[in-house]
Amino acid sequence: MNTTKIWLSSPHMSGNEMKYINEAFERNLVMPLGPNVTGLEEDIRKFTGSKGCSCLSSGTAALHLALINLGVEQGDEVICSTFTFSASANPIVYQKATPVFVDSEINTWNMDPGLLREAIDDRIRQTGKKPKAIILVHLYGMPAQLDEIMLIAASYDIPVIEDAAEAFGSTFKGKPCGTFGEIGILSFNGNKIITTSGGGALISANEEYCKNATFLATQARDAAPHYQHSHIGYNYRMSNISAGIGRGQMEVLEQRIAKRRENFLFYKENLEKIEGVGVLTEPSADFFSNHWLTTILIDRVITGCVSRETLRVKLENHDIETRPLWKPMHLQPVFRNYPSYTNGTSEFLFENGLCLPSSSNITDEERQKVVDEVTRAVTK
Ligand SMILES: *Cc1c(COP(=O)(O)O)cnc(C)c1O
Repeated sequence: MNTTKIWLSSPHMSGNEMKYINEAFERNLVMPLGPNVTGLEEDIRKFTGSKGCSCLSSGTAALHLALINLGVEQGDEVICSTFTFSASANPIVYQKATPVFVDSEINTWNMDPGLLREAIDDRIRQTGKKPKAIILVHLYGMPAQLDEIMLIAASYDIPVIEDAAEAFGSTFKGKPCGTFGEIGILSFNGNKIITTSGGGALISANEEYCKNATFLATQARDAAPHYQHSHIGYNYRMSNISAGIGRGQMEVLEQRIAKRRENFLFYKENLEKIEGVGVLTEPSADFFSNHWLTTILIDRVITGCVSRETLRVKLENHDIETRPLWKPMHLQPVFRNYPSYTNGTSEFLFENGLCLPSSSNITDEERQKVVDEVTRAVTK
């Protein structure tokens, strides 16, 4: 591995992970389930104030089990943010249900409440029934317009699943992302704000959802001395070793959030001075983003036709890893034929936006180098 490379978002250990892993080894608890999993679930419940938590093998698995919990099946439609990573939408198709994509608004880059209402009304008109669930994504750590969206969802009585994979530690009006909907999901993949090397969690105020997720994730084994099954199960449990990493990471989550937010402030101060460069910022004090990734928009005209791709390649040549914003789901070949309600926002963001190196273990020198190279690239 090239150690001089500046990565987009790399794992950042606290040092205490090994303590939990060693404990597991000493007691020969090298398996799924175990005290680290139980401990991590407890840590997450405490941090989010959520009543229930089920730790799982990935955020994707958590989304899948959230849909199953809400009874999503073939013939159902599920509304999903179009501006997201494919993992938000894939589980809808695992259930043989139909994703319906809804575009973003420009202030948070998340689901547009007006368009959500339009989409629900139009689906009811076209199919005679309302969508079974809404998957609301808080992208790059930025909370969505939760007041409006929760109100709309409640008025139609449609449950919301919050995809808070990128927003662990973000809050809206002081309440953690992931705790507004029926169910919230988190991800601890290697690039997220904290990691278990790979893993996720399903959280809910309704403990039944969490119990059921754990049940389904452990092959849906009924209570009997022999192996008895009355449901189709999955092998989605988190391992006791991974959970040990997670417990060490939970000890420093607050610090990780503080550092990512500091990265954001540094970039904002230094890059918004440049004409034609904008940094995604919370629209008001109600929104508290963990700033998992700092994201910028480049105005091609003002910067003299520097496209985000030109900028990305220039930075790559200086060993700086950046990434275009997510390509919207309604433009993905695999999802192209599903219904979508669009307004051009996510397409615009995809074409003009870039994620900057935002690791919590980035050094001051590295951050300065990113600023210098971006500045050099976009000013003539
Ligand atoms: C990472 C991510 C997921 C999936 O999480 P995994 O743990 O990688 O399965 C889902 N949604 C979003 C928005 C993500 O960024």
